Amino acid sequence: MSSNYEENITLPNGKTVKVYTGLFINNEFVDSIDRKRFETINPATGKVIISVVEASEKDVDIAVEAATKAFNEEWIHVNGQERGKLMNKLADLMERDIDELAALESLDNGKPYAVAKSVDLPLTIDVYRYFAGWCDKIHGKVIETQNDKFCYTRHEPIGVCGAIIPWNFPLLMQSWKLGPALACGNTVVLKTSELTPLTALKVAALFKEAGFPKGVVNILSGFGPTAGAAIAHHMKIDKVAFTGSTAVGRTILKASADSNLKKVTLELGGKSPNIIFADSDLDEAVKWSYHGIFFNHGQCCCAGSRVYVQDSIYDNFIEKFKAHAQSVKVGDPFHDDTYQGPQISQRQFDRIMSYIESGKEEGATLLLGGKQHGDEGFFICPTIFTDVNENMKIMQEEIFGPVVAIAKFKTVDEVIEKAHLTTYGLAAAVFTKDISRAIKISNSLRAGTVWVNCYNLFNANTPFGGYKESGIGRELGKYALELYTQVKTVQINLES
Ligand code: ADP
Repeated sequence: MSSNYEENITLPNGKTVKVYTGLFINNEFVDSIDRKRFETINPATGKVIISVVEASEKDVDIAVEAATKAFNEEWIHVNGQERGKLMNKLADLMERDIDELAALESLDNGKPYAVAKSVDLPLTIDVYRYFAGWCDKIHGKVIETQNDKFCYTRHEPIGVCGAIIPWNFPLLMQSWKLGPALACGNTVVLKTSELTPLTALKVAALFKEAGFPKGVVNILSGFGPTAGAAIAHHMKIDKVAFTGSTAVGRTILKASADSNLKKVTLELGGKSPNIIFADSDLDEAVKWSYHGIFFNHGQCCCAGSRVYVQDSIYDNFIEKFKAHAQSVKVGDPFHDDTYQGPQISQRQFDRIMSYIESGKEEGATLLLGGKQHGDEGFFICPTIFTDVNENMKIMQEEIFGPVVAIAKFKTVDEVIEKAHLTTYGLAAAVFTKDISRAIKISNSLRAGTVWVNCYNLFNANTPFGGYKESGIGRELGKYALELYTQVKTVQINLES
């Protein structure tokens, strides 16, 4: 491994961590053909952390070549048990390096170190272990047809899978793509977000250390319109999995149609409704609803950004919700008690501030926040709008920041109708002590996940994905295996 692509950097907590900066192709960190690099920024300070090698279309070609060769010549011959052992070994190594990975995730993304270590890393590791368990349990069926015929199916890998991931959960999104892809016997070319390239490269080194054959996992840092588009259009990539904005998701689907009709899975935006009934445990509803929108600084596709509160408890809820917001700590991601760090970039900061302006202009009441926190980095105070109506932009569009819109409702029918008034359908939540109401409403909500008396619960074995314009396909759980295998039917004539 060339030392040109390894550097030690000092973290805000005084510790030193080794980072990798090259493109990871064929188990080596290498330069790009164009020898270009780009800088990654610490969102808590706005200052450069380090520069990494930038992939272009030509580098995507090289990575696809490596993944194709690895698929045909090596990975296809590695059986499920062996694949499972390798994935468990990777999970062991991530556990060994959990402090460094969490610190680097916090530095590059701005999420609190304590959250990265207690939430992102454990679930990432669980995802690899969960899919490691599936490696030797993927099989087809025997199908009875006629007595003199024998028919069976095989669940075969798709081949070379492209993955394009976002910046809000860099390690988790890497595992959501790589876990099922590798378990099913595919090879992968993954592009990280240009805003958060560092942790995936560190995990790349662990893939090599775990003993994965070269070319099975290739990780590229680079930009969407160049390296990302090259993956989406590539004639030798058999499937692409994308997580990001609905706008880019559409271009991915078009790219498939314009190229080789590669299979496409999309996990896109959301504007999730969170419905609080008068009979709910109010303190619990406040706590979970706060977490529902402000976790990860509002940068979650499933964020509960539209909160509907039944009229008889509305004032009480608002008062408690505001008090909760005032009690959480916004600031340095490396402080133990920080709940909310900075937004990812100046661009996102500006975008969120423009939504806040539109909320004010359209007549919503700004109850709290609405401004920058501190004077360095991309921090925004937790922002609460009340008196919001369905036509306002802040009620319709995904803000992807620490901004919540709260509205009142009277009846079940009214709130269900309002809940469905956006083009999204990723998640929803209901707070009530009435179990039959909870189930009836969960059944009628057009969303891929419904949380009842909780929010943001994720497990490696529970599927996640969108209705409507929130996506195509389900990640995690057994359902994800269907997206990374294709079924072959074999018909045998026993009489010949
Ligand atoms: P956000 O707006 O939240 O940054 P994006 O959807 O733009 O989300 O980005 C998610 C991922 O998609 C990133 O890895 C980004 O580089 C990539 N991306 C952006 N534009 C394109 C594109 N035209 N083709 C392929 N990938 C893209």
